[in-house]
Amino acid sequence: MDALRGASVPPQRLFIDAKSQDAEGAPLDVFSPIDGRQLTTLAGATASDVDRAVASARAAFEDGRWRRQPPAARKKVLHKLADLIQENALELAVLGVRDNGTEIAMALKAEPGSAAGTFRYYAEALDKISGEIAPTAENVLGLVHREPVGVVGAIVPWNFPLMIGAWKLAPALAAGNSVVLKPAESASLSLLRLAELAVEAGLPPGVLNVVTGSGAVTGEALALHMDVDILVFTGSGATGRRLLQYSAQSNLKRCYLELGGKSPNVVFADAPDLDMAAKAAANAIFRNAGQVCVAGSRLLVQRDIHDDFVAAVARHTAALKVGDPLDLATGIGAVHSPDQLRAHLNFVTGAQEDGATVALGGNQILQDTGGWYMEPTLLTGVKPSARIAQHEVFGPVLAVTPFEDEADAVAKANDSVYGLAAGVWTSNLSRAHRMVREIRAGVVHVNTYGGADGTVPLGGVKQSGNGHDKSLHALDRYLDLKTAWISL
Ligand code: NAD
Repeated sequence: MDALRGASVPPQRLFIDAKSQDAEGAPLDVFSPIDGRQLTTLAGATASDVDRAVASARAAFEDGRWRRQPPAARKKVLHKLADLIQENALELAVLGVRDNGTEIAMALKAEPGSAAGTFRYYAEALDKISGEIAPTAENVLGLVHREPVGVVGAIVPWNFPLMIGAWKLAPALAAGNSVVLKPAESASLSLLRLAELAVEAGLPPGVLNVVTGSGAVTGEALALHMDVDILVFTGSGATGRRLLQYSAQSNLKRCYLELGGKSPNVVFADAPDLDMAAKAAANAIFRNAGQVCVAGSRLLVQRDIHDDFVAAVARHTAALKVGDPLDLATGIGAVHSPDQLRAHLNFVTGAQEDGATVALGGNQILQDTGGWYMEPTLLTGVKPSARIAQHEVFGPVLAVTPFEDEADAVAKANDSVYGLAAGVWTSNLSRAHRMVREIRAGVVHVNTYGGADGTVPLGGVKQSGNGHDKSLHALDRYLDLKTAWISL
């Protein structure tokens, strides 16, 4: 780990046609959240660089060098890629952590660990994709083919780049598409390395290209491109809105958007184990410094147990050490950027103006490291209408609000423009099922928070987006339906 921590990272270039290539734009500086020092530079792809990447993906798609390979051959390549991710897991994880500040214990599991599993899952799925024979009249044969869509543009965020990148790449490639991937400018390193590993695994040149650069230049050029067939995106609602506009201004490409959340974690007095619920509530918001899309950022606690429960959450929070993301004992890593840290601190001030009390934390810490760190922050007395209850912070800030009964809990849980995730803690089975039905969210965890594997979809409702990553359902978006209507 120590050797990897200090390893120099060469200036990064674009990855087009299986070759490392220069960009026309000016390079971007990359800083590490761990110590604020410059880590490397990133190629800044212009619209014409993006053109080259899309042309490469299009050529690979049209000549069928990947989509026409027998399923067994494509399966072998994706399994080999999973093997290579596992073999290089520590290198990938440490590189990612130096880039984005996630604590290494979490990164090892969530990044290479999860990405390898995702490639294996879709490797196994790809030879089970079948068409249909329609129940037509005798004199015709109606066939429904399922075909790859073409060129996929994938734009991903800086939190968990490998995990989220794999959620897009694995089903897209399994279905036979070509991809142009645009990672976040502040977390591109592990995905550039992944693209090299994909070629080493046997993915033909041009099937996966990576363009790096800013959202405003590189991302916009990809989203506006006339030869990109679909756009799959994870990131903020503000960018999601822009992508829909770009689609309307260009070729009406389909857009699948995975956006933010303000997820309620609802604790009833009859929860089976209140101490376990309190520990989970702390982990649900503070791990990775709250930079998790499904973070349980609104804690709704039944009034009878409110004070004791908040005290237990504070106790468990104190056990999470904030600090060096590359230390395995660290429970809360760095905040991703100084801008974000400033925004978090402003949210805390705003919450106090709106009547909340800071029960724990609220400050920047560890300034001597040169990195960006914040105390886990617990705000009590948060009104449902307060800014801190309505806006996604995407940082280590938990807003606590009491509720009276089940109806009040449902109303408060649903009082949000978002609908990504939720948690419910109760030992009443009927109530648990009623809450799952009533809460408007893509996933409702019961007596746990945050866990899920690749077999189930992850996606939101309302302003949390319209896409679903993971599971067999995700494959559908990378496949078009084609009807053959044959007169007999
Ligand atoms: P962001 O929207 O700022 O950036 C995401 C990506 O979009 C980056 O690659 C960025 O360069 C690109 N981008 C920015 N502007 C663009 C433009 N004009 N045109 C094209 N591309 C552009 O989001 P972020 O700060 O990287 O990520 C945090 C957000 O992502 C949070 O809101 C979080 O909740 C959300 N998120 C959602 C999920 C989910 O599964 N729903 C998962 C992780 C993160």
